[in-house]
Amino acid sequence: MKYEVVMGLEVHVELSTNSKLFCSCPAHFGAEANENVCPACAGMPGMPAVTNKRAVELGIAAGLVTGSEIARTMTFDKKNYFYPDLPTGYQITQWYAPVCRNGRVEIETGKGKKHITLKQIHIEEDAGKLVHDNRAGASLVDFNRTSVPLIEIVSNPDFRSAGEVTAYLAKLRSLLSFAGVSDCKMQEGSMRCDVNISVRERGSDKLGTRTEIKNMNSLKAIAAAIEYESGRQIDALETGCEVLVQETRRWDDDRGETFSMREKEDATDYRYFPDPELMPVVIDDEWIESVRAGLPEMAHEKYQRLTGELGLSEYDSNIITGSKNLSDIFDETMKYFPKPKEAANWIITELLSVAKGDNKGEDDIKIDCRQFAKLMELVDNKTINRGVGKKLLLPVWKEGIDPAAYVKENKLGMVSDTDQIGEIIRQVLEEEADSVSDYKNGNQKVYGFLVGRVMKKLAGKADPQVVNKLLAEMLAQNE
Ligand SMILES: [Zn+2]
Repeated sequence: MKYEVVMGLEVHVELSTNSKLFCSCPAHFGAEANENVCPACAGMPGMPAVTNKRAVELGIAAGLVTGSEIARTMTFDKKNYFYPDLPTGYQITQWYAPVCRNGRVEIETGKGKKHITLKQIHIEEDAGKLVHDNRAGASLVDFNRTSVPLIEIVSNPDFRSAGEVTAYLAKLRSLLSFAGVSDCKMQEGSMRCDVNISVRERGSDKLGTRTEIKNMNSLKAIAAAIEYESGRQIDALETGCEVLVQETRRWDDDRGETFSMREKEDATDYRYFPDPELMPVVIDDEWIESVRAGLPEMAHEKYQRLTGELGLSEYDSNIITGSKNLSDIFDETMKYFPKPKEAANWIITELLSVAKGDNKGEDDIKIDCRQFAKLMELVDNKTINRGVGKKLLLPVWKEGIDPAAYVKENKLGMVSDTDQIGEIIRQVLEEEADSVSDYKNGNQKVYGFLVGRVMKKLAGKADPQVVNKLLAEMLAQNE
């Protein structure tokens, strides 16, 4: 308790544009290596750069949802360094006039609300990616990511615990994904985080020697890295056995420790200067207001609508608005099946459990919402029972089947005929005479077993209400 941890964050978020920042190559994730490359983003000399207007708009949108001041004139600068994944020898970024300054983001902490203040948000291009091939003894370079547009969100050193850091990242993810700025998928690298961290004696207002832990892309790793690195720094101060230096460190997830990568560069090492090819971009009120008017419904607004107008529980609303993807699925499904409680129930209990069984997170679900809605409708209007409906969910998601046609073809329609069901129950009661007498002797659990036997004989298609009603009646008669 003698020490206090002080942290600032630099968060890189890949913008949801179709094309790259200064050329028309596709910017999407997952292409074959070097598929999305042209002479401009491969760094061929003399290729002109043209600014992507949409990237600027998404930068403005990021500023609006973080309460930032939007620059009236923004410029691009060259950050010069040599690295094999950077074919031009410089990265285009914003050093002198970034798109936004002075924002703030409210987070929930154990001690109530807290505001994290932002120094700036700037737009920049990404670098390529090196792939080290041990078998070939070679390093390969993939330029697909070169010049993909990013924003870097730079906070002030306002964080005091790993919990505040993860709460902030979750909040940023919600703000930016709902605003359509980025999909913020940490596992695909579209949201990455550098943590600047130092420790000092509680009560001191002087900052200690800081290190920067680079390029982390999971909340778990970030929390573990902060824990380790703050402990290492406190040990160094307490025991004096290690001298802290300003440096860049990497987190090793397997070994659970940080290690030194290089001494931290100063800004002067990069020799920033304005890019002479790129004109300043003037941002007027009209443009800002048109971006503001185009902002979609944000998570907290959606939450209000779900709990208010649509009458969903706080629990359900929290889960649905906790993910941009889930909330899009909800809205889209509701267009075809406007029963909010049923739709929410299907998404939360069935869809998420199918996703979990398939090792997919909530953001990885891609389902044809029209067919999903049709499936709910078939259960709702009692064409099929819920058990059959659940079984069809995976083929609806994975193969995009039309559930109505599939039910017809495979004769999965619900059996509600009381004579047919009654006959099956009679058979089951005969076959399971031992269980029936167990039930009569007070073993209630046997009831479920008998329902299961009846359902099985009817291939899972029976109307459970009819089964329950008849079975209860027939067991009572039998006494
Ligand atoms: Zn290109």
